[in-house]
Amino acid sequence: MDSGMISKIQKSKQYAQERERFQIDALSVTIKGTNNLHKTSFKDGEWQCDCDFFKTRGRCVHTMAVERILQNAELEMAAPPIDE
Ligand SMILES: [Zn+2]
Repeated sequence: MDSGMISKIQKSKQYAQERERFQIDALSVTIKGTNNLHKTSFKDGEWQCDCDFFKTRGRCVHTMAVERILQNAELEMAAPPIDE
């Protein structure tokens, strides 16, 4: 691997520890439900889902599950760096 790529990998590790650098602007996720596939998306600070429950309640198992995954990812990213 060339030295340019090695330095980029190092920098990406540093960035990954600095959660404040990241803001999710848009995201699209397909979730395998028990019976069907559901499409969730995040745009302009809000979640959407194509399931019937979401239409009446504004939140559903799909959006909440994705939010949960992202919260876990954020915690991992905010964790102190592992000594190598
Ligand atoms: Zn849903």
